[in-house]
Amino acid sequence: MQKIMKAPAKINLTLDVTGKRQDGYHDVEMIMTTVDLADRIHLTPLDENRIAIEVTKGYVPSNENNLAYQAVQALKKRTGIRRGVSIFIDKQIPVSAGLAGGSTDAAAVLRGLNDIWELGLTLEELADVGLEIGSDVPFCVHGGTAIARGRGEKLEFLPAPPPCWVVMVKPQMGVSTKEIYGRLKLSDIKHPDTKGMVEAIVNHDFAGICQRLENVMESVTFQIHPEVKTIKERMVAFGSDGVVMSGSGPTIFGLTQNQSRAERLYNSLKGFIDQVYVVRLLGNKHG
Ligand code: ATP
Repeated sequence: MQKIMKAPAKINLTLDVTGKRQDGYHDVEMIMTTVDLADRIHLTPLDENRIAIEVTKGYVPSNENNLAYQAVQALKKRTGIRRGVSIFIDKQIPVSAGLAGGSTDAAAVLRGLNDIWELGLTLEELADVGLEIGSDVPFCVHGGTAIARGRGEKLEFLPAPPPCWVVMVKPQMGVSTKEIYGRLKLSDIKHPDTKGMVEAIVNHDFAGICQRLENVMESVTFQIHPEVKTIKERMVAFGSDGVVMSGSGPTIFGLTQNQSRAERLYNSLKGFIDQVYVVRLLGNKHG
């Protein structure tokens, strides 16, 4: 039986870094939500005990370096199951973009194989397996809208934000999350109003959400790639209600509830940049 999983991207409504840990990771506090831009993962069980992987984009690894491959390995190790699977990834989410593309593929594989192999693991158990692969995988296992703390695995779920359009711009360059963390000076951080953002989400206060979009990685990424800052400035000028960078970038997204404003933004941005997407905010857990 083949199973096709939808693996949606995430955006950060806030991203704060609260400390550096002994284990080398940073402690974060960030609000993430899912958007309707998704990879499609085709899972086909194999008779032999092996993992085959194919990806539609040549520069994404189609070997053990792919996070989807690592998800299978981690699941097999955790459960002791000796079965094989063929994975085909139809890649729609831009790579190295701050949208958790690899993490959401890994999460979709965990959820899909849990069904196909009838493992009976809970989402919490799958999220725990996912943490071995990456800090964003636990959130991606659940989807929805949540505050993530710790290194990303401590999740507190929130209601979905009000419906809106998300206009996303992916500049040409990719950004290394590791490099951005390395350059971040904890003493320079101006912390986002995470509590205020939670209140705005709970109260369905769209203007309040737009006002509080904030990401402490922005200034670091802007320093290395000033053109990303220019894109943000243009999106504000073109009428987006709130604009911020997602993750460590370089994707910049703007929110608006007005469809014609979303279309205007898309048309203005398309004039000078290739990768522009207009999608809906999802915000609800996988169900
Ligand atoms: P995050 O937002 O979690 O920091 P990202 O969106 O910035 O992640 P990814 O698209 O996940 O970044 O890619 C980061 C790296 O992971 C790239 O170097 C890419 O080659 C590698 N990678 C491994 N598996 C995948 C996958 N399934 N999809 C995309 N990239 C993958």
